[in-house]
Amino acid sequence: MIGVESDWSSEPPPRYFTLEDYEGGEARWCPGCGDLAVLTAVKRICRDEQLPPEKVVCVSGIGCSSRFPHYMKTYGFHGLHGRALPVACGVRSRRPDLHVWVATGDGDCCSIGAAHWIHAVRYNMNLTVMLFNNEIYGLTKKQTSPTTPQGFATNTHPLGAVLPPLKPVSATLGFTNVSFVAQTVDWNIAHLYATLKKAHEHKGLSFVHILQRCPTFTPGVFDDLQSDPERILLLEHENGIPIDPAVARLYPKKLVHDPLDSNMARILADRVEELPLGLLYCDPDRPGYEEFTGRGIGMGVGEKLEFLNRELDRFTI
Ligand code: SF4
Repeated sequence: MIGVESDWSSEPPPRYFTLEDYEGGEARWCPGCGDLAVLTAVKRICRDEQLPPEKVVCVSGIGCSSRFPHYMKTYGFHGLHGRALPVACGVRSRRPDLHVWVATGDGDCCSIGAAHWIHAVRYNMNLTVMLFNNEIYGLTKKQTSPTTPQGFATNTHPLGAVLPPLKPVSATLGFTNVSFVAQTVDWNIAHLYATLKKAHEHKGLSFVHILQRCPTFTPGVFDDLQSDPERILLLEHENGIPIDPAVARLYPKKLVHDPLDSNMARILADRVEELPLGLLYCDPDRPGYEEFTGRGIGMGVGEKLEFLNRELDRFTI
């Protein structure tokens, strides 16, 4: 008889996701752009963690790195300049089951989006925020950004950027309710991968500052960090970023740093002679706004009406 032996269960069959399952459009960044390394790392984490593509959302603002959602075959939202973070908070507030990755640049996050940056950190919703810092506005062809080195000639300051650059890590460490701040570089893929993976595992807003090469408009700004391993200070701790043996061999200068030590994190962030790589700060017990926005999710229509009536009755005169 037809169908008697069939499996009528509605459970979808188990799936295994390969890198191709996250492969979006062909990336149109310049050859050698550091954005490509970050894209590769995120795809690998999605594959290694077996995140269903329909459960992943990439949110961005405007800028070169903000083209990120186009290159992932997941859900995505390429938003307005500086507005990646409020959009991402909105997504998490009603869909806490989704993995939200935020791609934002130094212009997008630290200039027009700076107010959202402060408050998104304070809201501490479960987001993986990647700040691609190439120290320039690349999409608009070499304008001074908040992180452009002082004296660096740009199209808006041909005689050199006038002001000292904003320090995204130091700034974030000063925001209320900050729960995770890490720093990595696009040219060390093992460290980049491990940092983003740790950030993704964190429950709360994880802020990852990525030094990102822009060979077109800021060539050479990270050359000394790339060529001289002595300029890197590798942060080690059992609760920090897991260190690949090859990374440990490459960087001779190391420091055991407890990510709960916020005072030391601030001192490290301000170091100029070396760049600290790793997890500067992590407090997994910080409150998150999702504890509030998640209320009522899963309620049936009847329950919602009952709840609303009860609330409105409080105002009955
Ligand atoms: Fe990358 Fe710079 Fe080209 Fe933009 S301009 S895609 S940041 S290399």
